[in-house]
Order: sequence, then C-alpha cells, then structure tokens
Amino acid sequence: MTTQPVSWVGSRRLLRQLRDLMKGGSGGQERLDRVVHMIADDMVAEVCSLYVRRPGEVLELFATWGLRPEAVHRTRLAVGEGIVGAVASSGRPLALSDAQSHPNFAYRPETGEEIFHSMLGVPVLRDGRVVGVLAVQNKTQRSYTDDEVEALETVAMVLAETIAAGELIGGVEGRHLDTASTLPARLSGVVLNEGIGMGEAVPHERGIVIRQVVAEDSAAELERLDAALAAMLEALDDLMTRRELAEAGESLEVFETYRMFAQDRGWLERIREAIRGGLTAEAAVQRVQRDTRQRMAKVRDPYIRERYADLDDLGNRLLQHLLRAEGGAEGPVLPENSILVARALGPAELLDYDAKRLKGVILEEGSPTAHVAIVARALGIPMVGRCSDLLTRVKPGDFVVCDGDTGQVLLRPRLSVRQSFSDAIEARARRRASFALSRDLPAETLDGVRVSLQINAGLLIDVPQLHEAGAEGIGLYRTEVPFMVREAFPDVGAQTQLYARILELAKDRPVTFRTLDIGGDKALPYWHSEVDENPIMGWRAIRIGLDRPALLSQQLRALVRAAAGRHLRVMFPMVSEVSEFVRARALLDREVERQVAAGGEPPARLQAGVMLEVPALVWQLPALFKRVDFISVGSNDLFQFLFATDRGNPRLARRYDVLSPPSLAFLRSVAGQAGAAGVPLSLCGEMAGHPLEAMALVGCGFRILSMPAAEIGPVRTTIRSLELAPLERLLDRLMEQPARSVREQLRAYARDRGVAI
Ligand code: PEP
Ligand code: MG
Repeated sequence: MTTQPVSWVGSRRLLRQLRDLMKGGSGGQERLDRVVHMIADDMVAEVCSLYVRRPGEVLELFATWGLRPEAVHRTRLAVGEGIVGAVASSGRPLALSDAQSHPNFAYRPETGEEIFHSMLGVPVLRDGRVVGVLAVQNKTQRSYTDDEVEALETVAMVLAETIAAGELIGGVEGRHLDTASTLPARLSGVVLNEGIGMGEAVPHERGIVIRQVVAEDSAAELERLDAALAAMLEALDDLMTRRELAEAGESLEVFETYRMFAQDRGWLERIREAIRGGLTAEAAVQRVQRDTRQRMAKVRDPYIRERYADLDDLGNRLLQHLLRAEGGAEGPVLPENSILVARALGPAELLDYDAKRLKGVILEEGSPTAHVAIVARALGIPMVGRCSDLLTRVKPGDFVVCDGDTGQVLLRPRLSVRQSFSDAIEARARRRASFALSRDLPAETLDGVRVSLQINAGLLIDVPQLHEAGAEGIGLYRTEVPFMVREAFPDVGAQTQLYARILELAKDRPVTFRTLDIGGDKALPYWHSEVDENPIMGWRAIRIGLDRPALLSQQLRALVRAAAGRHLRVMFPMVSEVSEFVRARALLDREVERQVAAGGEPPARLQAGVMLEVPALVWQLPALFKRVDFISVGSNDLFQFLFATDRGNPRLARRYDVLSPPSLAFLRSVAGQAGAAGVPLSLCGEMAGHPLEAMALVGCGFRILSMPAAEIGPVRTTIRSLELAPLERLLDRLMEQPARSVREQLRAYARDRGVAI
C-alpha cells in the first residue's frame, strides 16, 4: 500500500489564537462566541456555527457567528436531520457548494440561513463519538478544498477536548454528551469468531484523552514523537516474543508488517508535518489517524481496508506511548468479565488485554479475514463485527451479550434473556468437553464405516488445531491466505520457510497444499490485475497460474523444497479441463527434477490432485482419474456454478439447497465413479462442516471430509451415532423426489434415529 502524499498544512495561526483564547478568563458563552468568530475569519466564511449533541439525539446550536444570535440554544436538529444532522450521523465531513439543493437540507427560519449557499460541516469527535458539529457557511457557491476540510477538522479536535473538559460550556453540559439509552437493544453484525460471551462493556479507546492539542514548542513535540516511536517499536518486539504467539508464525508476520508501517516514511512524515503545523505530538497522530479512517471508509477492497486498519492500530499504540510518557494513560485493566467494544481494533491492541478476562469483542468494523479476527480465533475469544451504531448505543459498564454464533449483540438484556445465554454458554462448555473426550476416537459409523476428518487451514496459527481437534490431516491448506496478509509477493525463500513450518507443525499428518487461488474476489493488495466483469468466473486460480507459469512454478519450487524427504500433496484449484491439470502437473514435475539436478532431496512421496469446482470436469472423470492421485470437491464454488447462483448474493441465499435431489445425486454420482476407479475423493467446502450435511455426504459415499477445525468434534459425534445402510436407502428414495430441498426429511430421519446433528 502506498501512503498518500502529505496534504495537511494546518492553520498554525488559528491554533495559536485558539490556545490563547482558551487560556483567557472570560465566561463560557462569551468565549465560545469569540471562538466561532475567529474560525469564521480564518476560514474566510460568513458563518461559523457550533452545534453540540444533547441527550435525546439532538444537536443544539450553541454558538454562531453569522446566523441570527436569537437562534442560539433555540435551533435544534435531530441526528440525521439537515446537513448538520447528516454530518453527525455519518461522523464524516460534508462539503457542499450548493447546500440548499442537498436532499438533507432542513430550513430553520429563525437562523436566517437562506442567504448562505455553500456549507462545510465537520463532526466534533471525542473517543470515536460525535459530540457536536462545527460548520462554516458562505453566501457564494464556494467549493471547499481538502485542505480547508482538514483545517476545520483540526479546529474541531481542539473544540472537542475543550467541550469535554467543560471549559467552554460548563461541566453540566459536558456531562450530557453521553447519549446512549438504557433500554435493552439488539444489534446485528457479522460473525468474526464463533462462541458466546457476556459481561460488562468496556470501550476500547477510553484511555486515550488528549488534553493539549496546540503545541507550545514544535521542536520539543518532534522529540517526544521520536521517543514514543522508539518505545513503541521496543514494545512491539516484546509482544512478538510472547508465549501465545511463539507458535503462531502468521501472527508474527502481522507484527512484522506493523514494524514496517511504524517505520513507513509517509505515515511518519504526515505526523511530523502536522506537528510542524502547530499541533502537539498526540494531536498530530490523532489528526493523521482521522485521515486514515476517512480514507478507509472510501476503500471497498477488504484487504486494503485492513492495511488501513493496521495503520489505525499503530496510531493508537503510538498515542498510548505518548500519553504514557506523560503519565496520562496506563495499560488497560479489565473487569473480571469484559466485552470490549470498539470501532476497530488491531491484533496488537487485542493482545494488550488480559485474554482470560475478555469474554468477547464487538466492533463497528472488521471482517473475518482481518488480522484481529485471526488473533481472536487463536485466543478463542468470540467476536462480532460490522455492528453499526455500536458506540453510540452502548455505554461503558452496560451488560452486553456477544453472540458470535449468530452475529447478534444484545445490549442491556433482561434477566431472563441473560439466563438463557448463560445456559447456552454452559451447554457449550459441556459439549466442548465431550468433544475433547472423543478426540482420539475414530470417526466411524455404527456399522463400521470409517470417515477421515481433516481440517481446512490458511494460516500457521490454524495448524496446531489439527492435533487439538484430533483430525487426520489438513485436507485444504489455502496458500493464498498468507499471501494476502503480506505487503509484497513472498519470494521462494519466504514461501519455502512457511511451507516447511506447516509440515513441521503438522508432524506426521498429511497436508494438502492448494496452489494460489487468487483473482476473482480474492485480491492481493499488491497484485494489480484488471477487474473482471464477472470475477468469480474470471481470470483466477489455475487460470492465472498457467498464464503466468513463473508465478506458479515459484510456488511449486517452494513446496518441493519445503517437502524435501517428506510427503507432498499439491492440489490445483478451479481446474475446468484435464489438460489444465496435465500442464500444471508438468510444472510440478519439472520443479522436482530441478531439485534433484541441484543435488537436493526430492519429496519422499509426491501426490497431485485437483479441486472439483467446475462442473465440466465431471464429464472428463475417466480421463482425470488416470492422471490424478486424489480429487477434492470444493462445494462452495461447485454449487454456485451448478445452480448458476452467486453465493454472495443475499437474495439467492436460500433459493437452492445443497441438500436437494439434484445436488445429492450429483455428489453421489461423483463419489460412485471415484470409488469405482479407486481414486480418493474428499469434500472440503463449507458443506462438510455442518453435521446434517456431513451425514448426507457420508450417505452419498464420501469418506474424507475437510472442514474448519472447530467443526471436527460435532461432525465426529454425528458420524459415530450414524448407521449408514438405512441412510443410503433413505437417500435412494429422496433423490427420486421433485422437492427443492430434502433437508427436513434428513433432519427428521436424524431425529428419529438418534443421530447427533
Ligand atoms: C470451495 O470452493 O469449496 C473451496 C473450498 O474453495 P474456496 O472456498 O477457498 O474458494
Ligand atoms: Mg473454491
């Protein structure tokens, strides 16, 4: 990711004037009136108004220069109402050259604002909450520049701290800034890590309160920045050597990325520039952080967004070091049962908390592939993300349930609801204990059919779970995941190291490495390919590998080197025709020959296979069977092609069912043919990890299932309670039916026969 050029120059003079004014002894309203006048002058605006958020989601005009004075304390707008309300509800600036034509424009006759055409509003933010809105207006249709937006935001920072400190509007008003309700509420988000936790809400940013925004001495502030930076780097190094991360190579990689960012000249230069513009070191960091957040909000690519989130995390860490040096912020201390709530959180920040006291994490942002979700998974902390409005609706100390199974968040639930979640947590703990007890038992049906259960992995951190879950191997190692968390394409040496480490951690259990499945929706931040109109069916996976053989060969070379003297299993994704496999296999064989020619040891055993994701391959099975060592059905992709339904389209989410006569008939036919040819067949899509689906798959003839590690226990229990012969007879009958789904019949069968699903 490239850092944006420095743009903020700041208005040093205005900041100085504001600082002097703050020091002056005049009363609250009078000072506020002078502040808005001063800002209007500096911004060459006819109007400058400050709105403060009051209880009841209302923004009240607290001071104005240019609007009618009688409107002060009279004009009120709901959050979301008018341009000011829109700025407050989005938490983002709005610059409009013709404000009155904006759909949100709300005319308030008492203000006399009809003569002003252009308007720039910025949120006054404190601890991630909107506590007010600062706006300037002009009579002409003026276009406000980015620099002007940034300058007004900087001024808003100064005001935020003074409002909160009660300096301008008195302590009583300052205390009214907390607007969250006390009623029970339910918020919906997405699951970032499964599990349920409950406890007291602890806002993540509460330790960061900046008291001084305007610098007395810029040179001294630059020195403070350097000292804090050095302390932060040292602390990051300490963190990397911590025990729980020692095994988790991928997390280490995340922290390496941090170090890189911390030394990123662009990022640091922007902070230094803000200091030179008149801010204190902490205000400068926060200033640059706000830019980062705004940029982040505009970026749709999830990987780039995560890189921005990392920078944001670093900003917070740097702030903590700056404040700690002043004796202002201690490391976080958590109550016994805590639910951390934050807009966003970095992996290092999560590790700052005591994991034993942390029962859950809820974020306004975040995605399942974010680094922080990876670390939460490693620590077993339930996590829900993309919970909009979280921070405005939750108060510190609120009782909160974080339901990482459904992605729901319950704020201040009633006692009866709390009790049912508490029961669910206990039941889960009991179930877990029972899965742990059966960990070493074979996944064998009551009539003696063995099923091999394997895990899907994508990070080193997942690999130890192979042993914890009692799985027989890694059925799918998604090699693109480590590529995604990096800043540049890893070279052969780095890849070799990574693959060797995976094999080492897996000990004697087989690992099936899937070659890069990039392209489509899995973009790499540093891989600039043109965007396909239909990326899922576009230039992705093996198609890229064969068109860019150097890329695929490098990966194969690393795999061959890593597996010297060991068992190597390589799987090619999105193969549509046998010839593609033949070409890929030739590249693999060439790398083995090279290894031998260079005097290296070849893999002790080499197996190559394909993923069955493209239906066309099913009509080439006899030719394929002769050439492959194994096949794995990628049901996630396969079913979207089979039913012509985009798996990401929510309108189609329930339209077709994998437990339907056509899909089960398809799977049974493939399993039958593979069985007859003696080619091992597995299924590694999401389907394998659901007990009911796993039951159906075993009934269709699948004997190897690969799934997320957490699902191994439940699926093992299903298989051990299942009798295969009657299930096969049921499936015979169900496949004849014209139903769109046979899910309910399968569920009823499991219930009647005591199959644990
Ligand atoms: C699949 O398509 O089922 C699969 C396992 O691959 P991915 O989900 O990584 O596309
Ligand atoms: Mg796939």
